[in-house]
Amino acid sequence: MLDCRASSNDVLGMRSSLFRASIVAAIAAVFPAAQLIGQQVKALKFRSVVDGSGKTVAQGVVIVDGDKIVRVQGPKDALPANAQVVDLTRYTAIPGLIDLHTHMTYYWDSTSGTDPWRQPARPPEQTVRLARINALHTLETGVTSVRDLGASNYTDIALRDSINKAGWVGPRMFVAGYGLQRARPPYRPNTDTTRTARGRVFNISQIPEAVKQQVDAGVDYIKMYGSTGSGADVTGNETFTFEEMKAAVDAAHQLGKRIAIHSYGPEGGRDVVRAGANSLEHAIDLDDATLAEMARRGTLYVPTIDHNRYYSEYRVDFKYTPEQAAALDSFRLRNFETARKAFKAGVKLGMGSDAVFTMFGQNTRELGWFVKLGMTPAQALATATTYAADVLGMSKQIGQIAPGYFADIAAVEGDPLTDINVVINNVRWVMKGGAVVVDKTR
Ligand SMILES: [Zn+2]
Repeated sequence: MLDCRASSNDVLGMRSSLFRASIVAAIAAVFPAAQLIGQQVKALKFRSVVDGSGKTVAQGVVIVDGDKIVRVQGPKDALPANAQVVDLTRYTAIPGLIDLHTHMTYYWDSTSGTDPWRQPARPPEQTVRLARINALHTLETGVTSVRDLGASNYTDIALRDSINKAGWVGPRMFVAGYGLQRARPPYRPNTDTTRTARGRVFNISQIPEAVKQQVDAGVDYIKMYGSTGSGADVTGNETFTFEEMKAAVDAAHQLGKRIAIHSYGPEGGRDVVRAGANSLEHAIDLDDATLAEMARRGTLYVPTIDHNRYYSEYRVDFKYTPEQAAALDSFRLRNFETARKAFKAGVKLGMGSDAVFTMFGQNTRELGWFVKLGMTPAQALATATTYAADVLGMSKQIGQIAPGYFADIAAVEGDPLTDINVVINNVRWVMKGGAVVVDKTR
């Protein structure tokens, strides 16, 4: 989705670092993070453990110390002395899932009488607090990490830091700040086109500075909007040229950051891949040469098929017309078909929901489309575990249940390797970093 919509909350233009610090400090005072993590070693007993590396351990026991996994052992192996035993033998463990495309700070008050895109502006601090509900709904789906691709006023950084440092309950967040987008005339009076701000760039020479501004603000990832297309707008007109995308990719990589580029259309998609982006978001109708290039380079494709299902299904809330809903549906069909072709061509796919507003809690429905297009449930799980961890540069920390990894684990009822709906609908218990964050076992 395009950043310009999010900027309805820009208005107050708070000095973000200041308000960020004040939120973190205020929460830390009442809710020390250490309380959330038990000191005692835990032995989590499961019906089976699907570890994310392709291995399944029947009646596996996961040993957790602090926020990390010590090992996965069999049912007959001796437990550590004084371990707290947690009986989860009705459930199968899978690695905590990773949603590669969210907008966690897009909050909608459904009682406000407005539709989500036309809410009155609110102070950024309030947006951060309200976004906690999106974070909680996300955890309930077994998602313990997200790549959050675009927010205003660095509310994403404030939310991330409040979770990491102040004990707010939510997934690990890898955030992008302002997505880079082309500023297009007509400009408001007194617009200074000689410098970039808030991710808006007026010409190619400003792109490295726009990237640096995000990095200086403290982002983990860079996002660029390489085409039109957002909400009910399913046009995919390229907004940055190949050279401009290349300038963004080079600037990001020079600063040690990875970059995701949004393109609804195939021309932008082709240029995103050639420019060397780490992932391509959304695109439809990718040609065979582009798909072959993606497979060769290892560019991750995050098709976000399900978010147009969401918009269409919730068209009344969004006040979309029947024609707009039909356009969303037909885009989704082409998106699905492109993802099917990509998978056949050997392209790695990633699970990204593009969740906004009331879609949190439906983050993993994308996996259903992936199985429908030909993946096994295990292959679908990889899109939300190992492949996703890899594109974050976190493949030794998250995405597997293995020694030294963060203790991010979801317990599901049923066999996730024979029915992906078990993952989508039957998450009963979630641990993140050694702390139980969801418990529906009783
Ligand atoms: Zn998005």
